Amino acid sequence: MPAKSLEQVRNLCMRRGFVFPGSAAYGGVASFWDYGPLGVELLNNVKKAWWQDAVYARDDMDGLDAAVLMSRKVWQHSGHEATFSDPMVDCKKCRSRFRADDLVGAWVSSVRDEDMLTSETWSKHFKAHERVCQAMPEPARSQGVAVMREILAAHEAWWPLGKLFLKFDASGDESAKREMVADSDTVKANQRLKAATDAHHKFITENAVAFTAASFTACEVTCPKCGSNEFTEPRQFNLMFQSHVGPVSAAAGTDEEAAARVYLRPETAQGIFMNFAHVQRSLARKVPFGIAQIGKAFRNEITPGNFIFRTREFEQMEIEFFIKPPQFVAEGEKNDEQWHEEWVQQRYRWWLRYATPPSAGNEDMERIAARFRKRAQAADELAHYAKATTDIEYLFPGALGWGEIEGVANRTDFDLSAHSKDVPEEDLKRLKLEANKDSNEKFDYFDPDAKARYIPWVIEPSAGATRAVLTFLCEAYHEELVKEPTKQEIDQIKSDAAMIRKNAEKKIKDARKDIEAGKEPKHQPDKVEAFLNQLDDVVSRLPASLDEVLLALDHEGAQNLEPVKKFRPPTEKFIEECTRTVLRLHPALAPIKLAVFPLKKNKPEIVELAKSIKQKFQKHFRTVYDDSAGIGRLYRRQDEIGTPFCITVDFESLEDGTVTVRERDSMAQERVAIDELHDYLLPRLEL
Ligand code: ATP
Repeated sequence: MPAKSLEQVRNLCMRRGFVFPGSAAYGGVASFWDYGPLGVELLNNVKKAWWQDAVYARDDMDGLDAAVLMSRKVWQHSGHEATFSDPMVDCKKCRSRFRADDLVGAWVSSVRDEDMLTSETWSKHFKAHERVCQAMPEPARSQGVAVMREILAAHEAWWPLGKLFLKFDASGDESAKREMVADSDTVKANQRLKAATDAHHKFITENAVAFTAASFTACEVTCPKCGSNEFTEPRQFNLMFQSHVGPVSAAAGTDEEAAARVYLRPETAQGIFMNFAHVQRSLARKVPFGIAQIGKAFRNEITPGNFIFRTREFEQMEIEFFIKPPQFVAEGEKNDEQWHEEWVQQRYRWWLRYATPPSAGNEDMERIAARFRKRAQAADELAHYAKATTDIEYLFPGALGWGEIEGVANRTDFDLSAHSKDVPEEDLKRLKLEANKDSNEKFDYFDPDAKARYIPWVIEPSAGATRAVLTFLCEAYHEELVKEPTKQEIDQIKSDAAMIRKNAEKKIKDARKDIEAGKEPKHQPDKVEAFLNQLDDVVSRLPASLDEVLLALDHEGAQNLEPVKKFRPPTEKFIEECTRTVLRLHPALAPIKLAVFPLKKNKPEIVELAKSIKQKFQKHFRTVYDDSAGIGRLYRRQDEIGTPFCITVDFESLEDGTVTVRERDSMAQERVAIDELHDYLLPRLEL
């Protein structure tokens, strides 16, 4: 099993030096992370694997590294200055800040609850939505009212069938249910209800900013942090960080300030568009060809979080692949849809390749593949300039669930046209663009085969490098049982847990009394209760859940509970003996490729030989020497950070020139001659 929670991965990252909170000495800055000694190796390896696949392995790709800061005009003509924003609201009680569309989305999805479908609350709920729409400005008002009326009508038409479904469910009459599902009236009613709920979801999300604070209150949209439903009015918040070139003393919004304003790029793509003509001309590239770039991007996200999944500073790995517009595609050449499909497949294969360690058998491979999916965006999700977009998603552990790791978009000729002067009127109209009077470049291309000049179309595979680090860590993280605990040992954990429960229940009671008396409680009763529920769940699944016991004891509701403090150290020691944490990283991604240990650190000949092996390999890849613990413990430490191979030098090595090579996933050990180590390791590391 891969990681069961982001918390496991986050704990490992902090403990072993992958990722640290930024500016920690000053209390940290929300959502900025520093990559430590192992994190920077992993991140670099991810980028190297991407560059290898995107640039070196193809004949039609070149690399680029554009400046982070560009003319403000780039962001005006790309549309970012006007539209790269999210609607934001603040909770009036606890001051937490949220994306309005997230809050509204969570509220709306409550509609999908079974309860909602089967009760009269449906009608009450959507009549409330209609009242919310009545308070919106036009045209949202009329659109919204129409959407709400349709969802009410569609549900009314569907409800008799819904009742029958419930009846068959209750009686277990599967054949009647199957018959009904196949019936054409059922199909129609289902389709109508689905279309109505999709239209509703789209309308609500897109118009979140048209919600008034009063409508949040009326609809009982609640703050996820404190439960209040008093919010400020939603307002659009641009996600680009601003800065200025040179010293500026003028106030924000004045001409002087605006003239010096720059933005930290929110994506690397625009730097590629700016260099389309440079690269094409300097390398005499023929379309189709592409440009790859890796670099930092910055977004002032309203709700960053989930560790390094969504951060305000992150790294992207982007490709702009320039192709012929459909009207110039000759017989036998790929058109835009085929190129799009080719890139979706290439990128999907890359994710699977690096998520799969060489030790994976067929079943493992199937399980890994099931956690990656390609999801074509529905027509109503697409950005207005995209003809098609397929997101590659990964099933992250816990509440995060399926999350986008890469988007592959067919962006037509939108971007190059947006930055070009003299674009014909009909093209501007088709692309919904204003004429660009600032640009002195036309990003077109003379195609010697088609004997025509055109602005190329573009396919854009855009992946997050830092999000890839999280993806590969989640997938690689495994906690395994290496020694079966005895019944007695399991019973001991159960009786410790019972003791913890008894004490915690008393603390909950005391805390509630304190709250009633208006005093500051020593514990948060809800959090302690949540901890006890998690502990009960883990204990009920022992011994299979042994690897989750420490996670439960680290719950925020377990803080300051005396029995937890007392039981944690011996439990940790015992669990360490029975389980191992192993990062089954692809060897090409592993931060350290090889660790060399001496069996005895007080035997100078053994130490010297071990160090000489380390020196030999450190020229080729990251190799470390360690003699700070017994061999068993040293193996565990390397397993936990994903080192594919460990070498132990012992007395026999001095006699016959062989060493023990131990493989991380199988823990299998083999004697290999020192002279043959290079040939043994290199193919297995897949560098
Ligand atoms: P999301 O829907 O998650 O906000 P997006 O659709 O805005 O992502 P794109 O603009 O398509 O993302 O960016 C391409 C890739 O960059 C994403 O697939 C993701 O891997 C990465 N990415 C985007 N925003 C962030 C962020 N705030 N933190 C880390 N990675 C990010």
